[in-house]
Amino acid sequence: MPAHGPHPSAEYGALVELNDFQSTIVDIYGARDRERGVVHAVAWLAEEIGELAQAVRKGSADEQRHEVGDVLAWLASLAAQLGIDLDDAARRYTSGCPRCGGTPCACE
Ligand SMILES: [Zn+2]
Repeated sequence: MPAHGPHPSAEYGALVELNDFQSTIVDIYGARDRERGVVHAVAWLAEEIGELAQAVRKGSADEQRHEVGDVLAWLASLAAQLGIDLDDAARRYTSGCPRCGGTPCACE
């Protein structure tokens, strides 16, 4: 067991940590994506969000899961190119709504 104890997400049975997922995506696509640049990555992320929107509207649960995975992959790759760790980005929400501090959010 690590000195600092189990990771908080371990109790939820998380299969993939955000930063581990991001490292995996960078291992698979990082070199090629860096070569193509952030404008290309943003365009592909937008394309994948469009496909997700279509799957939500008329796709099966399997197709929706597939598209969520593609959006995550492109988001991870884009964030990596920008030097942003997904864990760091997610931290903004770990103490509740960033605006009102509430869980659940109490914003109007
Ligand atoms: Zn709020």
